[in-house]
Amino acid sequence: MISLPSEGGFQCNCYLLEENGECYVVDPGADREKIRSEVAKRKLMVKGILLTHGHLDHIGAIDCFKVPVYIHRKELPVLCDSYRKGFLAMGAEPPFKLPDIRFVALQGERELPLGRSKVLVVPTPGHSVGCVCFRYGKQLYTGDTLLKGTVGRWDYATGDLPRFKKTIKHMLEDFEPELEVYPGHGAATTIAAERESNTFYNEWKDTEQQNLTEDEA
Ligand SMILES: [Zn+2]
Repeated sequence: MISLPSEGGFQCNCYLLEENGECYVVDPGADREKIRSEVAKRKLMVKGILLTHGHLDHIGAIDCFKVPVYIHRKELPVLCDSYRKGFLAMGAEPPFKLPDIRFVALQGERELPLGRSKVLVVPTPGHSVGCVCFRYGKQLYTGDTLLKGTVGRWDYATGDLPRFKKTIKHMLEDFEPELEVYPGHGAATTIAAERESNTFYNEWKDTEQQNLTEDEA
């Protein structure tokens, strides 16, 4: 895996998942040229762009390659909203043209081929309605769902605290402790470390789980 944290503007971690000359780009938030030159230097064939969710700071360079952009089906409206309102609200021109992007809508758990392996898409709603994590071998790419020592916000338009608590409890209790966690912001961690010291998990783990009716992830 190659980590390419964006510099200036939005701070967001972009990652290249790479195997046998193929790669996926996870959350290209900015720095289009840096991502392109890294891919060119390594002579990689980009199979697609994987989005953990559609917030502004994760999508600024989704046109860096002419490849499909994978996003959860419920998250596409969030991305469109970020595009229409977010960039303009900041007085910035959108950095790409939405009609130029070919989206592939994800639903449920799904595997995407990479080299001889697979990247597993895991729905993790809460920070926003269609958040997903990507699992590749012993690595888990968590976007703004799980961060080192903390979790993402839940007060944006499609955030949902009860669902978020459920997601975080599921991740920290059911995933293998040795999984390496690569968040959308800040440093890497592990499931074991977060189980031990994540502030929000420790607050939420003993609270009564509300009954949530799950519609189809
Ligand atoms: Zn976010």
